[in-house]
Amino acid sequence: MSARQECYVVKDAPGKGMGMFATRDIKRGECILAEKPLVFASRDLIKTQLAINAMTELDKKSFFALHNIHFDVPTAIGIVRTNALPLGSDGVDCAVYKVMSRVNHTCAPNVHHTWNPKMKKEYLHAIEDIASGSEILTSYLEPFLVREDRMEFLRKNFKFECHCNLCAAPKPEYELYDSTVRRINIYSDLIMTSASFSPKKSIQFVREVLVLLDKIGGEGKTPFYYDGYQISAMYGDYTLAQEWANLLLDSYIMDEGKEGEKYERYLKYSKNPRSHERAGCAPRQILS
Ligand SMILES: [Zn+2]
Repeated sequence: MSARQECYVVKDAPGKGMGMFATRDIKRGECILAEKPLVFASRDLIKTQLAINAMTELDKKSFFALHNIHFDVPTAIGIVRTNALPLGSDGVDCAVYKVMSRVNHTCAPNVHHTWNPKMKKEYLHAIEDIASGSEILTSYLEPFLVREDRMEFLRKNFKFECHCNLCAAPKPEYELYDSTVRRINIYSDLIMTSASFSPKKSIQFVREVLVLLDKIGGEGKTPFYYDGYQISAMYGDYTLAQEWANLLLDSYIMDEGKEGEKYERYLKYSKNPRSHERAGCAPRQILS
């Protein structure tokens, strides 16, 4: 039986070292790669060094071939700091990968990467259609940062100037993007603060964010669908909760696939919107 044909190749990316490129057209939602780490790392440098020492010779070869931008620390630690991806959102533990660590940055990524603790693998899913030959690019940043904050973070942590389409856009274009991002952040804060006393307003803020997201490419909707679902379920508007739960499930499958950590939970919400742990905990209100 022949191995599954990969849809990517790792090769020279002019001006950026190595990079990952599509070898065929890739559809939005497709899983491009699921990869086990070469090594796990943490802030405990001794533990990290011991884990590096314990790698197989083959894995060490892949590890030491990775890029290093930190010359003020031992090479192995520099490689970890340059290439590690966080395991989940707490940012304490991380891992280094043979292929995943080669994916370059853009502020407008065409893939979403996520750690799956159940499978103990990092997954890479296409969040838009990617044409054959295009570079596969992820984001090293938290979402919804303005240009200045993105640049400062990348300079400080990755020591490069970003020249992606978003950063290199003409001033009126990036100013429009930045003002949209600022509004998303304001509405995003208001969603949860208003949920306890004005759930109708809270749902309205979710809708506002979704409209704004469409103006900047339409990515990143999943957490907001979750907010819409959770608030509707809390207040017992199960017709609305059903609508949000369906959107949540579809969006999540596109981001992280059916193997994603939260798939079973979101499937359960979609099958029964009353199954949220806080469903009906607030006085019933029709929010639609
Ligand atoms: Zn950029």
